[in-house]
Amino acid sequence: MPRFVIQQHAATSMHFDFRLEVAGTFKSWAVPKGPSTDPRDKRLAMAVDDHSLSWGDFEGVIAEGEYGAGPVIVWDRGEYRNLREEPMEECLERGHVSVWLEGRKLRGGWSLRRTGGRKWLLVKRRDEEADAGRNPVGTQPRSVVSGRTIEEVRES
Ligand code: MN
Repeated sequence: MPRFVIQQHAATSMHFDFRLEVAGTFKSWAVPKGPSTDPRDKRLAMAVDDHSLSWGDFEGVIAEGEYGAGPVIVWDRGEYRNLREEPMEECLERGHVSVWLEGRKLRGGWSLRRTGGRKWLLVKRRDEEADAGRNPVGTQPRSVVSGRTIEEVRES
């Protein structure tokens, strides 16, 4: 199964980098508010450059002066499967991605729809894992790798 990772990244502004392994690379989106488990929430996801699979394990501080300077934690990770009939490459090209995540914090179906240019919307699908009462970004801030918060990594 291909992997997904969500890295919380306090660069110029705080965001969550949502990455899906496709054809040997991480397709990536920056989600300012992070993922929601409430299917009524549409979270802006800006497509950004592909990242190497090895970057998905990075946790630490990107040095000042470098692109994206600031702390990064692995907020969630696991495996995913494509819920659509078409291969992922085609889904990305068409701007309609639907995946089932098997993470430590996030489980269930999410869809990513391109609304124009680099703008996509990340939305929880209505399934048994949907939960409007959960707020994982707020209540589960710690790294699934080290148990640290992004502020603890910043100060390390
Ligand atoms: Mn980032």
